Amino acid sequence: TAVPTVELNDGTTIPQLGFGVWQVPAEQAEDVVTKALQTGYRHIDTAAVYRNEEGVGAAIAASGIPRDELYVTTKLWVSDFKKGATKQALETSLAKLGLDAVDLYLIHWPAPADEKYLEAWQAMEELQAEGKTRSIGVSNFLPEHLDKVAEAGSVIPAVNQVEVHPALQQRDIQAANTKYGIATQAWSPLAQGAVFGDQPIVDAAGAHGVTVAQVIIRWHLQRGRILFPKSVTPARIEENFDVFGFELTDAELEAIDALDRGERTGMDPATFNPS
Ligand code: NAD
Repeated sequence: TAVPTVELNDGTTIPQLGFGVWQVPAEQAEDVVTKALQTGYRHIDTAAVYRNEEGVGAAIAASGIPRDELYVTTKLWVSDFKKGATKQALETSLAKLGLDAVDLYLIHWPAPADEKYLEAWQAMEELQAEGKTRSIGVSNFLPEHLDKVAEAGSVIPAVNQVEVHPALQQRDIQAANTKYGIATQAWSPLAQGAVFGDQPIVDAAGAHGVTVAQVIIRWHLQRGRILFPKSVTPARIEENFDVFGFELTDAELEAIDALDRGERTGMDPATFNPS
């Protein structure tokens, strides 16, 4: 099963299906990521604030998989938005991951009470030019934040990683991403289980003889989004990767599209200003 790749606006490619490690405890991260790599995942999504970069790095090192076959994303926390701090933050992440460079570095949240993310973006551009990260992008950016980055910066973000699942489809943000040629990455793609009982999803699972999680993952893939569901359970890690043997019909996709109800599992980027 070859995972499809998506071409980003900087000419690089990213595996469309990856593995997310938010809330994977540090002491479990090496085992869980090892399981993911053995299953076939080649794209790992972590962040400095997840506090498990060392475990991710240990699993990568032990895997023996050539570096150019892996895609590793990490993220800059809001406390490091000053230029010097941003550069130091990536150095710290690289040391923990045991890598010379990541594939993708993201501003984790805009924290829009001030516009410090613009200074961070300038540092991100320099980090890309220095080869510390192949691509740079943002996460949780609303259209107005994308506009500001596009106006002040010289590089358009390659991706915007936002909460997207059947109950929160963020069409306005996805449209703004598309306008700028920015790829959409869906975080909490399974809504952490909150949509597993939704009838169109249950029906499609029955029709194809697959699980509800597999249906939701297919829906994202067929709608063109990049995603990285998370699990620490070996059987689910396998299940979430075993999604290339069936295809949802247009009617099934549309029935899931119709489940949008503005229901978040996470924080609202307009008002979340962590420090
Ligand atoms: P998710 O939607 O992937 O749900 C994960 C949860 O769903 C698991 O903990 C488990 O309870 C359940 N689950 C997973 N697979 C299952 C299966 N096959 N059957 C039954 N239940 C299953 O949620 P998430 O972890 O919040 O999001 C995925 C990734 O997105 C994260 O690990 C992280 O990498 C990223 N993320 C990024 C941000 C951000 O601000 N940029 C925020 C949240 C998550």
